[in-house]
Amino acid sequence: MSPLLATANHTGPDLGAWLLLAIIAAAGYLLHSVIWPYRACHKCQGAGRFRSPSGRAWRYCNRCGGKGAQLRTGRRIWTHLKSIDRDRR
Ligand SMILES: [Zn+2]
Repeated sequence: MSPLLATANHTGPDLGAWLLLAIIAAAGYLLHSVIWPYRACHKCQGAGRFRSPSGRAWRYCNRCGGKGAQLRTGRRIWTHLKSIDRDRR
């Protein structure tokens, strides 16, 4: 094996493999966000509301508006990509 080929083999495929892995991970996350667009709200842990210490009164979570769900970042990206696609047509 020539020295040039040896160095090319050492640096080239490694970077390519990492890039491919990153693309696969990003595509997987995007697909996951398309199938499951919501995640539990971080503030109320998906409950949608907060109870008072007495337990008899409660108020809606103001982060998620009482739904307990928040749209994933990946789904926002997907919606943005779809809107670009729609504008183009
Ligand atoms: Zn919430």
